[in-house]
Amino acid sequence: MKPAPFEYIAAESLEEALTALQLNSPEGKILAGGQSLLPLLNLRLTKPKILVDLNAISGLDGIRETPGSLAIGAMTRQSKIEDSSLVRERLPILAEAIRYIGHVAIRHRGTIGGSLAHADPAAELPAVALALDAKFAIAGRGGDRIISAEEFFLDFLTTALAPDEILRQIVFPVLRPFSGYALEEVARRHGDFAIAGVVVIVDLDDAGKIDEARVALFGVAPTAVRARQAERALLGRELDDSGIADAAALLEEVLDPPADIRASSAYRKHVAAILLSRALKRAVQLCQTRRIL
Ligand SMILES: Cc1cc2nc3c(=O)[nH]c(=O)nc-3n(C[C@H](O)[C@H](O)[C@H](O)COP(=O)(O)OP(=O)(O)OC[C@H]3O[C@@H](n4cnc5c(N)ncnc54)[C@H](O)[C@@H]3O)c2cc1C
Repeated sequence: MKPAPFEYIAAESLEEALTALQLNSPEGKILAGGQSLLPLLNLRLTKPKILVDLNAISGLDGIRETPGSLAIGAMTRQSKIEDSSLVRERLPILAEAIRYIGHVAIRHRGTIGGSLAHADPAAELPAVALALDAKFAIAGRGGDRIISAEEFFLDFLTTALAPDEILRQIVFPVLRPFSGYALEEVARRHGDFAIAGVVVIVDLDDAGKIDEARVALFGVAPTAVRARQAERALLGRELDDSGIADAAALLEEVLDPPADIRASSAYRKHVAAILLSRALKRAVQLCQTRRIL
C-alpha cells in the first residue's frame, strides 16, 4: 500500500518545526528515522496532513557529557550511540540494549528520540530510560519542559508529548563505576520486537548485599514498567538462589501481561520471571567483577 497524500516540510530549525506543528495541530506528524512511522503511513494506520521532517535541523543530535550524565540529542541515530566509546564506558547498558533493536540498517536510520516517542511497549529503549531514571527535554512554543521517564510513558504507543511538541534531548544519569547491569529478552527471531524483556541495574554494598536494585520490564504491559515491588524485595539481600526466587515469584504475582498472537499472558508472565532471574545473576556477577578489578 501507499500512504495517503500528505504535505511535507524539511524544517531547518527547531522553531520552524514547532511552528509547522502548531499551525497544523493535531494533524502534523514528526519524521525522524522513519523506521516506525513509514510502515504506519504505508498501511494507512496514520494519515497526517503534514510530515515535519527533523533530519535537516542541526543541533538535534549528538552525545554530550555533563557532570554525572550523558545528554543525547533526540535525532542521534541508534547506531551512533551503540558505537560511542563514551556510551560504552559510562552507560554500557544503553549500548547493550541498542544491539537488540532490529538490524544494523534499521539502527543506522532509527533515532533514540523516535524510539522513545513511538513508545512501543516491546521496545528496549523505554525500559532502559525507566531503569536509568532518564529525564526528557521536550521543546514547545513556550520553551523546554523537563519530565521524568516515568511521567513520559502513559499508555500503549502514547506519551506525554502534545501534538505540537518535539522531544529534543534525553539526559541519562551515568552508571556508577561498580554498578552491575544486564538486559535479557525473548524474541522469536533475532531483531524481532521482544515478547518479554527485563533490564536490571544493581549495586552491592561492602558486605555484598544489594544496596540498590532497578528493574524495568518491557513487552509485558501497555508501556515499559518499573517493577518496584521486586526492587524493594531485593534491597539488603545477598543475591543467593532464594533471593532470586523470591524476586521472580513476586514479579509473577503482580504482572498481568496482555495476550496477543505471539504469546499468551501466562507465557509472558512466566518468561518475565525467568528473564529477571537470569538478568539478576548476570548483573550481580558483573558488579562483583567490577569491584574486584
Ligand atoms: C524490521 C524492524 C524491526 C524493528 N525491531 C525493533 C526492535 O527489536 N526493538 C525496537 O525498539 N525497535 C525496533 N524497531 C523500530 C526502530 O527502533 C525505530 O527506529 C524506532 O521505533 C523509531 O525511531 P525512528 O527514528 O525511526 O522514528 P520515526 O519512525 O521517524 O518516528 C516514530 C514516531 O515517533 C515520533 N517522533 C519521532 N521523533 C520524534 C521527536 N524527536 N519528538 C517527538 N516525536 C517524535 C514520530 O512522529 C512517530 O510517531 C524495528 C523497526 C523495523 C522496521
